[in-house]
Amino acid sequence: MTFDRRKFIAVGTAAVATLSAPMVLAQGAGKPRVVVIGGGSGGATAARYIAKDSNGSIDVTLVEPSRSYFTCYFSNLYIGGFTELEDISHTYGTLAAKYGINVVHDWAVDVDRVAKTVSLAGGAVLPYDKLILSPGIDFVEDAVPGWSVAAQNKMPHAYKAGSQSELLKAQIMAMPEGGRFAMVAPPNPYRCPPGPYERVSMVAHVLSQMNPTAKILIADPKPKFSKQALFEEGWQRHYSGMVERIGPDFGGENVSVDTEAMTIDIDGMVENVDVCNVIPAQKAGRIADMAGVTGGNWAPVNAADMSSKMDPDVHVLGDAAAQGDMPKSGFAANSQAKVCAMAVRGALTGSKVFPAKFTNTCWSLIAEDDGVKVGATYEATEEKIAKVDGFISQTGEDAATRKATYEESVGWYAGITTDMFD
Ligand SMILES: Cc1cc2nc3c(=O)[nH]c(=O)nc-3n(C[C@H](O)[C@H](O)[C@H](O)COP(=O)(O)OP(=O)(O)OC[C@H]3O[C@@H](n4cnc5c(N)ncnc54)[C@H](O)[C@@H]3O)c2cc1C
Repeated sequence: MTFDRRKFIAVGTAAVATLSAPMVLAQGAGKPRVVVIGGGSGGATAARYIAKDSNGSIDVTLVEPSRSYFTCYFSNLYIGGFTELEDISHTYGTLAAKYGINVVHDWAVDVDRVAKTVSLAGGAVLPYDKLILSPGIDFVEDAVPGWSVAAQNKMPHAYKAGSQSELLKAQIMAMPEGGRFAMVAPPNPYRCPPGPYERVSMVAHVLSQMNPTAKILIADPKPKFSKQALFEEGWQRHYSGMVERIGPDFGGENVSVDTEAMTIDIDGMVENVDVCNVIPAQKAGRIADMAGVTGGNWAPVNAADMSSKMDPDVHVLGDAAAQGDMPKSGFAANSQAKVCAMAVRGALTGSKVFPAKFTNTCWSLIAEDDGVKVGATYEATEEKIAKVDGFISQTGEDAATRKATYEESVGWYAGITTDMFD
């Protein structure tokens, strides 16, 4: 997609229609300026590494509307009763106090790539030399007929953690005895490939204790899914007879919902449900589109430095990026952010830039002390982030191995959140 300035301004103008007399904020005059949009896995990591490693020589502004970031990782464990909501909540104070990052709690509503400025909903305009976008995901409109974001309190997605996770958990707890939980699983590519299936495991864990005659129905448009053999083995072992998955062979790709009647229609078969967790098809967070750096649903990037294929001064991280072989995960976003931070620092201060290397592991909890994982290392090629080698848990592993895998995930959680926020 080429940059169409007229179209871009039209979109931007609509978005900032409520702004009056924008005020240009010139923070840290004379220093190179980096603006990061999105304070999640990619954005918080990138802001922290640039500020930490440049010792104040780069002016870093982080734009994030929420004062608390709830990690999606371990939000399924919250639903399963293995952690509390406050344990997955993180704030931005240390980034400001320890690293001098200018943390602005606001929405970015426009990007002018010619003037190199970001407009905020509150009216401020931030100039940048380098812009980093890590806005996560939004949902594709009308992906599931009958569902829209306006209905998310009736049929939650819980695919952005926080109040949605709380709501879904409350709905599960309130299910009638022998009731039915349905999930509409998303098509590829989407945030956290094993996420829906870890969620099913955690819902099954809760129901098997509180409501053992309840049933779980998954409508799935994909013929296969991440760690499938491991999940299916675990469901058989721990929750036998509780989970039914309808794949595309049986109409799992032809699904609509009625949020008022609380029904799900799978290829003409209409089922009453007590809880319906709709996880729609996904796309890059909307600001990436408004910045004019998407091609289709995602933002294509160069693997060596995560720069946009449409603009070398804009970098896109995490779920929003079309980068190649990495899954859309928090670990991946964190890994990409470090590569990007090094490249941005190098470009702005002349510091040394090493070849890009990436790693990822996705852990999932199936039942208490029963964890599985899949992971890989990656390198940057001209074309994409390319997988080098990988590993995956095996079916039939002993209990000690599965417990160790779960404990590894707990250690990882502490590590990544420290790497983002401390
Ligand atoms: C149920 C579930 C379980 C998961 N489990 C794991 C796991 O175990 N391991 C793992 O590695 N990953 C996991 N993930 C995936 C992981 O959460 C995401 O891949 C990761 O958070 C992506 O990072 P990001 O920076 O792209 O987006 P996010 O972390 O979502 O951050 C985006 C941020 O941008 C902000 N933002 C958006 N638009 C704007 C705007 N216009 N202006 C300002 N700010 C904006 C948002 O408020 C948000 O804070 C899971 C996801 C889910 C849903």
